[in-house]
Amino acid sequence: MKADLHLHSTASDGMLSPREVTLRAAGLGFSVMALSDHDCVDGICAAQETGAEAGVHVIPAVELSCGGDREIHILGYGFDPSDAVLLDFCAERARARIGRTEKMVQRLCAIGKEISLERVRELSGGVMGRPHVARALMEAGHVRSVNEAFERFLIPGKPGYEPKEDVSVREAVELIANAGGVAVLAHPMEMRRSEMVIEALVHEWKAQGLAGVEVWHPSAQNNHARFLLNLARREELLVTGGSDFHGKGTHRGDIGEGLDRWTTVEDDVAALMHAAACAGYRR
Ligand code: AMP
Ligand code: FE
Ligand code: FE
Ligand code: ZN
Repeated sequence: MKADLHLHSTASDGMLSPREVTLRAAGLGFSVMALSDHDCVDGICAAQETGAEAGVHVIPAVELSCGGDREIHILGYGFDPSDAVLLDFCAERARARIGRTEKMVQRLCAIGKEISLERVRELSGGVMGRPHVARALMEAGHVRSVNEAFERFLIPGKPGYEPKEDVSVREAVELIANAGGVAVLAHPMEMRRSEMVIEALVHEWKAQGLAGVEVWHPSAQNNHARFLLNLARREELLVTGGSDFHGKGTHRGDIGEGLDRWTTVEDDVAALMHAAACAGYRR
């Protein structure tokens, strides 16, 4: 069985629509997938409809940005995508992202890298993020690639960067649990912390309701994945895997990238679905 539990679409910063992502997953032989857009659940319905036609089971998912300056991402799975509190939260995050993007555009204009908020909005189509700002910078000829835009302007310490408002892991985990889902720590290696610190954080967040760790992700080299797998087993946390697909020509690879090492897909997906079903009953 093939599964990919971390995919992005045009509802946030991916290049393909939810329908296109789902059809691509089906075409590549995946039978389970999760559309996990940043701070956004708008694409789930279309992905599920397409999945029903194409023979892919689509698990409702979301990737919530936590930690302000620090890239701490919490994945939610198996929640009710029409949960009013979750929808309100996402709407508020989307609004905040517009204000933040406006600040980044102003900062860039101030150093002569002129782009317009309107153009970034057009390029986004959904929830706005730095990749859309990067694409606008490239289109305007200020940089040659999205990666160059990030490196020169859009990462902490660079002149175009503006942090997101801080959302705590506790808040994200509770939001997902209250919507009937389970919370999983996305790509732990991307937090750029030592193994010791990751261990301590995961332990702390588990006490706050964190239910799993994304062990299989392109950012985890084999030794990292081994460390994360041991940590998950020791803490009795769910194990998940995802490619973090954003579309062709982005910083990530294709659907399924980095997941050939994930040998316990069937058991891990079953455990995730079971945990989500149990979370749902608690409401
Ligand atoms: P934001 O949510 O607006 O802070 O943007 C973060 C997103 O930018 C991440 O989820 C990635 O998809 C993307 N990203 C991060 N670094 C890069 C990079 N070097 N090149 C392209 N995209 C990136
Ligand atoms: Fe992204
Ligand atoms: Fe992420
Ligand atoms: Zn992601």
